[in-house]
Formats: sequence, structure tokens, C-alpha cells
Amino acid sequence: MTDTQDRMRQIPQVSAVLEHDRIAPLMDGRQGPWMTRLIQGSVEELRLTLRKAKGSVVQREILLEDLVVSVLARRKALLGPSWTRVLNGTGVVVHTNLGRSNFPPEAAEAARTVALHNSDLEYDLQGGARGHRGRLVEEKAALLAGAPDALIINNNAAALWLAVRYCSNGGRVVLSRGEVVAIGGSFRMHEILAETGCELVEIGTTNRTSLEDYREAMVPGATILKVHRSNFVVEGFTEDVELSDLAAACHERNCPLVYDAGSGALFPYEELGLPPGERLLTQDLATGAHLVTCSGDKLLGGCQAGIIFGSREMIAGLRKHPMRRAFRVDKTTLAALDAVLSLYLAAEGQPDIPTLNQLGMSLEDLANRAEKLRTLLQDQAPAGWQATVVPGQSSVGGGSFSTTSIESRLLLWDGPKEELEACHQFLRWGNPALVGRMNQDGLAVDVRTITEEEVNLVVDAFITAWSRLN
Ligand SMILES: *Cc1c(COP(=O)(O)O)cnc(C)c1O
Repeated sequence: MTDTQDRMRQIPQVSAVLEHDRIAPLMDGRQGPWMTRLIQGSVEELRLTLRKAKGSVVQREILLEDLVVSVLARRKALLGPSWTRVLNGTGVVVHTNLGRSNFPPEAAEAARTVALHNSDLEYDLQGGARGHRGRLVEEKAALLAGAPDALIINNNAAALWLAVRYCSNGGRVVLSRGEVVAIGGSFRMHEILAETGCELVEIGTTNRTSLEDYREAMVPGATILKVHRSNFVVEGFTEDVELSDLAAACHERNCPLVYDAGSGALFPYEELGLPPGERLLTQDLATGAHLVTCSGDKLLGGCQAGIIFGSREMIAGLRKHPMRRAFRVDKTTLAALDAVLSLYLAAEGQPDIPTLNQLGMSLEDLANRAEKLRTLLQDQAPAGWQATVVPGQSSVGGGSFSTTSIESRLLLWDGPKEELEACHQFLRWGNPALVGRMNQDGLAVDVRTITEEEVNLVVDAFITAWSRLN
């Protein structure tokens, strides 16, 4: 008999798990059916693991006890939230894996109110009849971007799809080879465009596309697409066409121009100390592009959403598109975005929006925050651990200002290497979790992405992690 056969024989029966004295009391009542499915899944997983396993055979009793412990742990996890709050010590402001932009409190409050209560989202209180979902929110967005009208849908990927589908209607879509981009893991430009049913015509080369290339492809009925290079740059022997020049050519030939602006910049980021780079939505629209799309949760600093800007006529057409319903946003999204846009409208100077505040933090404030953390923590650190406040580099993230790093201040821990690594792991496993940066100098926390209110939570997180060392 082979080891594998031996091993498969040791797998506990589902019934043995169900009858185990720590599981059986949980099986009565309404939890029974899903607990049974959970146990069946766990036994199946164990089967797959053991089939591939090597080494000695483990006793069935031990496997049963392990299985029960893991089922109970999964049950506990299932009964709580599926996510953990994270203290972002990475210095990446719009961190895609950590939830992109944080809401301003006003946006969270607005979302909470419409979540808990009825509202006039689709009801005209004046006339007592059916109203239009989110029209006023769209008016705010349009006013800020300098567009005649706007449409809010689920995200920028959907915005791009709908804009291209509406303009091309299965016809030719022209895109520079330098802009057949991938954004994040699952957004590949040519794949999304293929799903619109259009005929994609790629022009130019990866590094050079000229206005002449575009002109040659502008047959009647063609849609021209231009995509902001959010997360990379092309350097060296390059040529690109200015959006305004392209827009002029499109108007001459009567071809609609769709521009995917990516980030949705509504504020001059130079005023926050960032280098020029990301164009404002107002500038994009001033070029004469017919439709401009952007995300709601990147530089704009709001929630997941996609906004399409354009003429009243085109936006009205998009509103009537059958797929629009499939892309529509939830009421909590509309309420949150509404509050963010109001902050932009009301601001005299810099609107009080977390993403903008983090990007605009002064070096002095950063140094003070890092120093405060250092003072609160140094005396409690394990032997051999030393903290210093050092210069470092934050980044914008979320595919904006891709090559820009912003000078920041870090709290840097030096100490025994294994302890630093173990500590970073324990920090990630905490609640709230803390994600920092490990490099050859040690374990760093970039304080740009830690708020003043979170300083004490960071202190607690370190103390808990240290207590788990050895
Ligand atoms: C981020 C990005 C997208 C995708 O936006 P989502 O809101 O995440 O769907 C599309 N195009 C560009 C240029 C981007 O930067």
C-alpha cells in the first residue's frame, strides 16, 4: 500500500466532525445547515492537501482534532466582519489594496443617513412624483469639472465601456499602441474594448504616435479614444499627441473623442507641493474632448464611482443606454460622492478631504508626528530596538503621479533582523492591523498615511506586537 493511500484512509469522516463534542452543540438550530457545508468543505480541502502531501502519516485522531480547531476558527471568522481595519504605514496615499481613498467624515455620515433612512433619491418631493436618481449630484460634478452635464456610474472601467460603446456602437475605435494599458490586475484596455463589440484599430507604435497616424484612421463614424498613462511613463525616443490637438482634429473630422482621465483631478496639486503632472478635469474638458471619464476614489478623494462628463445631448444619450442600469450606483455611493463634491464646491482654499490632506502635509507636521510616535514608543521597545525619525519617500498611488515620490518622514526601527520581521508580521495580524515597510534599514512607518487620531492606535499596535515576540 502506498503512503498516499495510507494517508487518505486517515481522513476523518464528516460525521465524526459533526459528532465531536465541541461541534455537536453548535449544530442545532439555524446554524446547522451552513456549518455542515463548512465541515464538508474542510474535509474536502484536507483530502486535497493530503493527496499532494509527502512525509509520514499522521494519526486520524490528531487530524480530527486539528480539523475541529480549524472549523471553529473559521466559524468565528464567519460570524464577524470579513475585513480588518488597517493602519496604513506604507506612505502610499491612494493604496488600491488598502481601499484607495478614505471618506471625509461628511461623506461617511451622508452614506450612513441614506443607509438607515428613506430619502428622496428617486422621488420629487415638490411634485409628489417619481424623480431622477442623483441628478443634483451629477450637476455638482459637472459644475466642478466645467462640463455641461455628467453621469455617475459604478466605476471608471464601466464609464469607459459605456462611453466607448455609446459613441462607437460596434464601429471603429482608434487607440494609440502606447495606450493599450493594463491598470491593476484585471483591467486590460483591449479586453474591455473588445467587450464593447467595437472594431479596435491600434495606431502608431508603443513609443511614438503622431497626429498624422490619428488622421489616417479617422474614417467617418470612427471613435477616437485617448487614455491617460496613469501608472507608467514612456521615456526616450517618444512622440505623443496633445489632447487639445487631437480634439481639434476630431472636431474637424466629426469624430467623437473619448478621453479616459483616470484620476479625476479637481484640485491643483501643485498647491499641495506636488510637481505638475496630473491635468485637471477642467483642463481636459476645455480641450474640447467629447466625453471625459474618471474614477471617484483616486485623486478626487471620494468613493468608488465612475464619472462621465460631456455635452447635455451625449450625457442624455448615455442615460438612456440599456446598460446604464447595470452600472448604476447604490444610494450610499451617491450620498458619499455628493458630500465630497459639496466639500469641493464650498472650499475657499483646500477642501478638507483626507486624500488631499495627506498629500499636502508639510514636512514639519510629518516630522512632528513621527517624533511624537518615537517618544511614545521608544521606552517601551524591546532591548536592542532603536527608533529614529528619518527622511523617506511617500507616493500618491492609485495610478496617479506614477513616477513622483513625495518627500516624507518615517519612524524607522533598527534592531535584531528576525525580531523586526516577526514584529511586522504580528503588526499585520493585529486588529487594527498595521502595514508598514520593511527594507534593509529596518522597519519603517511612513506617517503621511497615519492620521493624528491614529497615533495612539499605532502605539497600541506596536506594544501588542512586541508582547508577542518570543
Ligand atoms: C484607475 C484607472 C481606471 C480604472 O478605474 P476604476 O475606477 O478603478 O474602474 C481606468 N483608466 C485609467 C486611466 C485609470 O487610471
